[in-house]
Amino acid sequence: MSEAKPMTDEELHELADKQAALGEVRGTPAPDPVNVPMIRHWLAAMGDENPVYLDKGVAPPAMAQVWTMQGLRPTAKDRSPVDDIMAALNAGGYTGVVATNCEQTYHRYARLGERLTPATRFTGLAGPKKTALGVGFFATWNVTWYAEDDEPVAEMLFRVLKFRPPAAKAPAKAPAEALKEPYPLRPAINQDTAFFWEGVQKGELRIQSCADCGLLRHPPGPLCPHCRSAGRSYTVASGEGTLYSYVVHHHPPVPGREPPFVVGVVELPEGVRIVGNVVDCPLDEVRIGMPLRVTYRPMDDELVLPMWTPGES
Ligand SMILES: [Zn+2]
Repeated sequence: MSEAKPMTDEELHELADKQAALGEVRGTPAPDPVNVPMIRHWLAAMGDENPVYLDKGVAPPAMAQVWTMQGLRPTAKDRSPVDDIMAALNAGGYTGVVATNCEQTYHRYARLGERLTPATRFTGLAGPKKTALGVGFFATWNVTWYAEDDEPVAEMLFRVLKFRPPAAKAPAKAPAEALKEPYPLRPAINQDTAFFWEGVQKGELRIQSCADCGLLRHPPGPLCPHCRSAGRSYTVASGEGTLYSYVVHHHPPVPGREPPFVVGVVELPEGVRIVGNVVDCPLDEVRIGMPLRVTYRPMDDELVLPMWTPGES
């Protein structure tokens, strides 16, 4: 972590302008060329059975970022114009980070054997702004991946909110009183998802279904990916599931949450997967494949979240 002195808002914007003026800064080329093993693992992880990638020797476009990921212990030499801004925001107490936008544009397939090079352009800093998570700055940058022939393969606009987490509160309150504080992370409820959250309030785990072909889908969306019908209905799931995958979240701090906590992908017998917290289970007993059962947890006076507890095996 940087020990730099906190900058004023004006100084942060000056630094942002300076970084933007650098234009596009090329990073270190990918450690490995586009290769079959990584593509194969990606396809398996995504459940993508389209044979076109391995047949034609091209990478799925959404893998663009994969090729140039810095790994768990990045070396300091590969600095991008974004790093100084992030360090300055951290030094100013804006230590929270949440990604808000990611828009990718694909120019052409990356082919087996090509080694991609990322180039980063810092494009803007907006703030300080008040958000539900706290006061923060929105930082936006653009990464373009180039092949050795200098052709752009893909690019990505990325925006994060760097926010100042509310000061930790003493855990002295009685639970009943603590519940009255609004939980800071509210789900985005819209026309596509309202039925799901109404179900949660009633203790029902509702899964969207196509009104025409009956296919279940989660997360909810406007169109059936199978028959393109816009007709929607839902079914109530049994509430059972098995843990398909999970991570243990240690860092960064999340408002309203006490790390470490488990974020799981739960496979339902109905045939869809859903993301949720696994609770009431010691971390070292969390296992892929473990049976789970949905539980409904009040987060404050209004919000209930579905979570998952160990179930009968
Ligand atoms: Zn359908």
